[in-house]
Amino acid sequence: MIDTHAHVQFKAFKDDFDSVIKKCLDRGMILNLVSTQQNTSADAIAMAEKYDNVYATIGLHPVHLHRTFVDEKEGGEFMSRAELFDYEYYKKLVQSSKKVVGIGECGLELFHVPEGTNEEEVLTKQKEAFLQQYKLAQEMNLAMSIHVRDAHDQMIEILKTLPHPIRAVIHCYTSNWTHAQEYLKMGLYLGFTGVITFPPNKTNPERQNSLLEVVKNVPLDRMVLETDCPYLAPQAYRGQRAEPWMVVEVAKKIAEVKNLGMEEVDKLTTENAKKLFNLP
Ligand SMILES: [Zn+2]
Repeated sequence: MIDTHAHVQFKAFKDDFDSVIKKCLDRGMILNLVSTQQNTSADAIAMAEKYDNVYATIGLHPVHLHRTFVDEKEGGEFMSRAELFDYEYYKKLVQSSKKVVGIGECGLELFHVPEGTNEEEVLTKQKEAFLQQYKLAQEMNLAMSIHVRDAHDQMIEILKTLPHPIRAVIHCYTSNWTHAQEYLKMGLYLGFTGVITFPPNKTNPERQNSLLEVVKNVPLDRMVLETDCPYLAPQAYRGQRAEPWMVVEVAKKIAEVKNLGMEEVDKLTTENAKKLFNLP
């Protein structure tokens, strides 16, 4: 099983990342450590270099383009820094290790619009950083891990201007089937997290039904598994720090919704992730 989007290099794992990684490797897993800024990119590479079957995806998350305080439920809070995408810095990092398999997470984030800025200004800056990372991914022949929150229409508009198929995954996919079809048409994959295991929200049950409709409809060759740990622990572990091995809960839910066996979901999503990230 492959966790295509884990943040084991984050502070939440600072005391036990080695044992968390070993626990996953003992279960035969493959991990893709996805980064959000310069330091977490360097740390992801260091961990990937240390272990077989651990890979790194490096890049700049849109939330780190502005200095702002972010309070993420269950994953802790952090102060983001205003980092500009430094093309040469990231290019050197890619060249420093054969374990770098992707660029990201990059994308659009309109959920956290920092105080003192407006949406248009934020979007312009995020778009520019995203296109720079797209360029690096093309130059280095790497996949992209794309973050989109409250900005699917804007992301689809950007992707439509690029040559297709686009070798990328929309990570932690939580939008509807209409948006999903746009991404699928352009060749992208959809990454599912523990969010698909959550019960419907009492005040807005439609949201979860709409997400499960996506799980049901997504073609078997376009879905990948992820945890986004330490965030988004699946329902069975809700409230705990998420860890990559919990990705089995996501696979279970996909098996249930798509009426497949667990082994089949494991096999398909592993093949998909290997193809997407060009893993051996
Ligand atoms: Zn993430």
